[in-house]
Amino acid sequence: MALPASPRRAPREHRPLSDAALPLLPEAPARPSAEAEPWARSLVRGARDVAALVARGLVDPADAPALTAVVERYQMLVSDYYLGLIDRDDPHCPIRKQALPDPAELRPAPGERPDPIGDGPHGQADILVHRYPDRALLFPTLRCPMFCRYCFRKVALNDSPIRLRRALDGALAYLAAHPAIREVILSGGDPLMLPDDRLDDLLGRLRSVGVRRIRIHTRFPVTLPMRVDRALARRLAAHRPLYVVTHFNHPRELTPQSRAALGQLVDAGLTVLNQAVLLRGVNADAGVLAALFEGLLDAQVRPYYLHHPDLTVGTGHFRISLDEGLAISGALRGRLTGLAWPTYVIDIPGGGGKVPVDSRWVRPLAPGVWRLESPIDGAVTRYVDPGYCASTVSS
Ligand code: SF4
Repeated sequence: MALPASPRRAPREHRPLSDAALPLLPEAPARPSAEAEPWARSLVRGARDVAALVARGLVDPADAPALTAVVERYQMLVSDYYLGLIDRDDPHCPIRKQALPDPAELRPAPGERPDPIGDGPHGQADILVHRYPDRALLFPTLRCPMFCRYCFRKVALNDSPIRLRRALDGALAYLAAHPAIREVILSGGDPLMLPDDRLDDLLGRLRSVGVRRIRIHTRFPVTLPMRVDRALARRLAAHRPLYVVTHFNHPRELTPQSRAALGQLVDAGLTVLNQAVLLRGVNADAGVLAALFEGLLDAQVRPYYLHHPDLTVGTGHFRISLDEGLAISGALRGRLTGLAWPTYVIDIPGGGGKVPVDSRWVRPLAPGVWRLESPIDGAVTRYVDPGYCASTVSS
């Protein structure tokens, strides 16, 4: 890729990142070592295959073959901690639905795609996505503390792992050459999969090429909160302005441990926001979301976005219609303080950007058919709502 001739600033010298591949799962050791951090032990003791779920009594052995077929396509990883939140007596447990495989993942629905929001066409330098003029996504890893079953990058996360050291120089050169990019969002994959030293080093390198603001999107406070300790929070706070965006979807995820993790971040002086995804069978209910958003506010976390589910292949069983989403979002207005209202947004399929659903960029054309207008370039997309079809069929 040709870069413009005059970069805004040459990268400062930094010690190189370790040559080793990221110490990420599923390559992590099968047994916890005595020296491992508690969070790493919880991950190692967690479940990576269906046999582990059967052994814990979370899955009927008769269902194992069908679920194994799912895990062969979309890998599974759930920490010991998050498994412990599952209500064994509730077959519709919202924690279970987010973490354990479902045969429905192998039944693609019309309109679904592997790259729903067009990361690929906007990719740069292997680990960057440059969709908006002023900000870019950077993937330090494609590994996570849990493979959430509804994830919009579920196909990418099952792809080859990223080797950060190899890709980072190119990404930094691209950022240096594009001074309009003022904000970098670390996502993926979960950036907190990096050890503290390497994360610190990465943040310093981003600063060295003139990036003004950094966002870290992480689900660790939800699925493995022990990862977030005082030392990590202080390291992150040293790179302010840095915003941490968590990803709580259900009030039952707000446990004493997760509140403690959030407290570490807040006490270190970081601004913490939350984005949730509206998911059928998990939180597509105004009462559930009201409890979640109030709980987050109590933990000093501002609800930021409520995402309409993307058209990701294998996630149709989580999808609701835009009409249902608008009804839920509207119901929240009457019962919650404005501080607790996230913006209900949809990502325009293919990469047109994110737009508030209740706005001029989203207009109904016919029942179940919408006109979505890109806030980036004005391009119009005709959106046939598969959630509408599903809700019509099921009603
Ligand atoms: S932590 Fe985020 S990126 Fe990783 S699987 Fe879950 S939703 Fe996807």
